[in-house]
Amino acid sequence: MRYSYRFDGERSVNLRELDTKPPVEIDREAAEAQIVKLSAELGELQELMYGAGKHSLLVVLQGMDTSGKDGTIRHLASALNIQGVHVQGFKVPTPDELAHDFLWRVHPHVPAKGNISVFNRSHYEDVLVVRVHNLVPEDVWKRRYNQINEFEDLVAENRTQIVKIMLHISKAEQEERLLDREQEVEKSWKLSPGDWKERAFWEKYQDAYADAIGKCSSKNAPWFVVPADKKWYRNLAVSEILVEALRPLKPEWTQALKAIGSKAKAELEEYRRTAS
Ligand code: ADP
Repeated sequence: MRYSYRFDGERSVNLRELDTKPPVEIDREAAEAQIVKLSAELGELQELMYGAGKHSLLVVLQGMDTSGKDGTIRHLASALNIQGVHVQGFKVPTPDELAHDFLWRVHPHVPAKGNISVFNRSHYEDVLVVRVHNLVPEDVWKRRYNQINEFEDLVAENRTQIVKIMLHISKAEQEERLLDREQEVEKSWKLSPGDWKERAFWEKYQDAYADAIGKCSSKNAPWFVVPADKKWYRNLAVSEILVEALRPLKPEWTQALKAIGSKAKAELEEYRRTAS
């Protein structure tokens, strides 16, 4: 079954209609057993992708503050071989970054063949926070949807599997998580008055997310909205998204690896023949 909402063509999106909580019929224990299986499969797929060196995977993580981007990255780190994974965060642009086009800082972090990149925030901030706070004129951010689509097409045509994930939490869940940051010492480093200030723009962010997802979804670069109020369910949904993005390529990788293996064996035999 699909644990998240998939968008792979232009259409309107209303986030208010999409659940942030897990469906009642899925219990935590069963989900955790399923995560173990999916994590094992994900690790195997990563190894095949790395060995075959034909494709790469780009995971874009977006979500409101406290939505669990860091926790999702920790979860992925437990399933993947971190050799071959690059995590890139995108924060407020530096003056140098602002002096370039908005995709300039993003492109160098697209994964090389065989590798995985995880974006913690991304080029989508340029149609989210930038739109909510009018950081550039409207006609500038409006053109960016198209520019993003063209950029992602280029990346996908170069054999990068792209999955874009919005961790969807409720406003009430965010409040609880922000309050937790005040109570728990281990979380206090994440405490920022800025998060409360941004929370006041909740509705504007939801609209900006809906537009970004609606205007920038394609078969090549789908968006997935993950109900993220429960971390265990979020991890289940994210694991499934990644496995399903890579699984169709497995036969091609197995084939490529067989060819690589035969070539190496022939070279080894030749070496043994000449060395003896
Ligand atoms: P985290 O991602 O853990 O929340 P920070 O607290 O440092 O990390 O937040 C990064 C901040 O950078 C966010 O508020 C985000 O909206 C902002 N940001 C990222 N990209 C841009 C951008 N292109 N323009 C303006 N602000 C941005």
